[in-house]
Amino acid sequence: SQIRECPPDVKQLGRATWTFLHTMAAYYPDHPSNQEQRLMRSFLSSFSRFYPCGHCAEHLQEEIKKWPPRVESRQQLGMWMCEMHNKVNKMLGKDPFDCNKIDERWRDGPIDGSCD
Ligand code: FAD
Repeated sequence: SQIRECPPDVKQLGRATWTFLHTMAAYYPDHPSNQEQRLMRSFLSSFSRFYPCGHCAEHLQEEIKKWPPRVESRQQLGMWMCEMHNKVNKMLGKDPFDCNKIDERWRDGPIDGSCD
């Protein structure tokens, strides 16, 4: 059968990837073991090496060097991811996202229950 979908461009890839990254952070343990913290650090480091948008990956690697991932808790990782995304938003001229809303956006949904 013929494939009718196009490969993702930088924006589609970005949206799908942020969905994954924020959702992963939203379900990271509240009290991760030392091994889990090590694995998350190593995942993010590998991820930034192989992210399939060359200039995005380079930029991300530089940011990770300056602002190492905070893997000590779910709350910390979620905030770190939000701050990273906001750096990219800023670079692209987009409005910042309110990092107090990450659980509502990526885990719990709005209080009106419209996503339940
Ligand atoms: P996205 O920015 O993809 O956001 C998706 C949804 O996430 C938003 O609708 C919002 O609900 C939520 N959101 C927004 N900000 C935050 C936040 N701070 N925290 C939590 N949730 C948030 N594109 C480039 O052109 N150049 C780059 O250098 C570049 N680097 C990237 C690096 C990485 C690691 C990733 C994952 C993507 C990168 N992109 C880059 C893609 C870019 O960030 C966007 O994904 C793309 O422009 C599509 O934007 P969008 O407006 O659909 O929303």
